[in-house]
Amino acid sequence: MNKIYLDNAATTPINSEVLAEMMPYFDSVYGNPSSLHSFGREAKAAVEKARAKIAKGIGCNPSEIYFTSGATEANNWAIRGLAYAYAKRGNHIITSKIEHPSVLETCKQLEKEGFKVTYLDVDKFGFVRLDQLLHVIDKNTTLISIMSANNEIGTIQNIQAIANIAKEKGVLFHTDATQAIGAINIDVVEMGIDALSMSAHKINGPKGIGALYLKKGTVIQKFMNGGEQEKNMRAGTTNTPLVVGFGKAVELATMDIIPNAKKLSMLRNYFIKEVLTRIELTNLNGHSIQRLPNNVSISFGMVEGESLLFMLDMAGIAVSTGSACASGSLEESHVLKAIGLNPDLVQGTIRFTLSKSTTKSEIDYVIEQLEKIIKQLRKVSPITRAQVGKIKSQGEK
Ligand code: PMP
Repeated sequence: MNKIYLDNAATTPINSEVLAEMMPYFDSVYGNPSSLHSFGREAKAAVEKARAKIAKGIGCNPSEIYFTSGATEANNWAIRGLAYAYAKRGNHIITSKIEHPSVLETCKQLEKEGFKVTYLDVDKFGFVRLDQLLHVIDKNTTLISIMSANNEIGTIQNIQAIANIAKEKGVLFHTDATQAIGAINIDVVEMGIDALSMSAHKINGPKGIGALYLKKGTVIQKFMNGGEQEKNMRAGTTNTPLVVGFGKAVELATMDIIPNAKKLSMLRNYFIKEVLTRIELTNLNGHSIQRLPNNVSISFGMVEGESLLFMLDMAGIAVSTGSACASGSLEESHVLKAIGLNPDLVQGTIRFTLSKSTTKSEIDYVIEQLEKIIKQLRKVSPITRAQVGKIKSQGEK
């Protein structure tokens, strides 16, 4: 059976060019980039070349990129590090209700330490309410952290507008761009972003490496104590092969964003349209246009998401019920709750995330299987038609 992988928001396979570029740094060029001899210098040169590629990908200076173990660490560091560094100025942080747990849990921790956090509401599409943002900023606000694109429902925020508000009010702006890199053009200077988190494994790079972009002049508290790597800001021996792979992955992902996104969006739109018209009681989550080119989040009424996931898995199709980080638990998705989705639909939600190599024939097979499996599941569903009610797709404008 040919397997179909539609869980690219959880992670992606490594690109063969990325892997090839990494290989020599496991065995031949194994020096510690901090060492002064030729082995070290050779590794250091590769690290700096990769740093430059990543900087180019988001329009910043290489000296503004700090390597981390992934976006989780970058988010923890950015929020905690900036909150502490600017604590004398104020203790208020603003974020949204639909952020990744690495942002939300860090904010919760800061609340326990005496910081004040506002969790902004989102509308039914998942857009942060800008009027509310303007309203809650006060003289104690030091940081706004809003994700560029949501990992569950694919909504792309109005980042530019949020950055403008932050700048106007003299507040720092951090964005978790983990899902947005390679999907939309990001230029941190043009957009006015002060800090940005990213991760390699979402863009066909290796797992366990990411970065924090920090605008020059922004003060941040150190995250880990130890050696003087990353300009004495992030201790730990630099992982040369992962850094090299990350650099190559960013280079490839940010190369042809517009044509790639256009092509992928066409397949995504076809998928959405076919599912919504061929299967009744379905709802598109997120916005129909301002969404990640590879994201299809659909709620199926009278269906239990986990059962659908496992039956699709048996048919060789890999999907997710929510984000990979949350789907291990049966807890309701905080994102679907925040957009106000009917709880009976929340539990019947599946996230399909496509890749550049997903084909139309794969999508046709998935639709065929969905129709078949959903018919079976609905026959034994404890949820009644009346409970689901009439669905007007939220994705409709
Ligand atoms: N933020 C978002 C929006 C994500 O989707 C993820 C990965 N699920 C992360 C942060 C965490 O990234 P990493 O796996 O690199 O720690």
